[in-house]
Amino acid sequence: MIKCDIKFGYTCNNQCVHCVVADDRRALEDLNLPTDLGTGDWRAILDTYRDVGAEYIVLTGGEVTIRPDFAEIVDYCCKSGLFIGLQSNGRAFADAEMCRVIEPVERIYCTIAIHGSTAAIHDAITGERGSFDQTVAGLRNLRAIGKGVTAKIVISKFNMHALPDILDLLDNVDIKQANFAFPHALGDARINFIDVVPRYQDIKPVLKHLVEKGRQLGIGIEFEAIPFCIVPDSPECVTEIYDLEKSIRLFKPVASTTLDWNEVRPAIKKKGKDCDQCLYGLFCEGCWSEYVDHFGDEELEPVKEASEATIRLISAVAALTADS
Ligand code: SF4
Repeated sequence: MIKCDIKFGYTCNNQCVHCVVADDRRALEDLNLPTDLGTGDWRAILDTYRDVGAEYIVLTGGEVTIRPDFAEIVDYCCKSGLFIGLQSNGRAFADAEMCRVIEPVERIYCTIAIHGSTAAIHDAITGERGSFDQTVAGLRNLRAIGKGVTAKIVISKFNMHALPDILDLLDNVDIKQANFAFPHALGDARINFIDVVPRYQDIKPVLKHLVEKGRQLGIGIEFEAIPFCIVPDSPECVTEIYDLEKSIRLFKPVASTTLDWNEVRPAIKKKGKDCDQCLYGLFCEGCWSEYVDHFGDEELEPVKEASEATIRLISAVAALTADS
């Protein structure tokens, strides 16, 4: 399968402290270049991807739902026979009118960013008062119109102790999948590094608790950019195993050519000096380079003995690679 992520623009109605695209947006602004694709631009990109056999298009940004041509984008993807993966902060779906845009679309899956269990935490992260209430309403509405939703939570020092409470909130709005992503120190996460990026060692107990609580609530847990050795009891939750699927992953930033995400991703990650001794070395990409550059690699302790968790991981990888 060919999957393509398209950044439709860097404009957003949130101003998250961990925003990874903020540098890209500022670079274009400094050059007086557009920070968002025009309608003609995205039509040409979608046509190209469709013509090379792409089946799955991820609409991402910035925030794609605030574009005046959002409905047109959705319609164009549907008419092109493309499955839509929608990445959004979900605020727009507090509005019933916006829900009607995607309600008839059957081939769509939503990933909605929510970063706190309360307005105080979430709005402090997004920098937008009222964003929490809108995102929660959006989550509720998306489920009410029958859409599949994964909640995407970027871990930070702002929310690390309240992550388990987010699962209660998700349970309350009928969300059954949660992706906890480690912050990538680019853009505003680079500028706010000290305030944003936690140590793996400090979140380890919380991650363990998330898996246990997810099991109790029937919510699937995923960990992104968190190496297997940080969650040794639940390595099957690490999303890197999905990257072992034999799919082609293309990635289109606003102002540069298409990149191969399967090549780029390992190149912007780093492993530790002892990783070659680890059982998971073959599957593992390590962590974001900026993390190792800042904190070193002492926390990356090679897993040397197989356990029940190892067997679960191998089964999960076998199932994924057999399906792809
Ligand atoms: S290969 Fe390295 S980073 Fe990956 S799980 Fe093993 S010790 Fe951790």
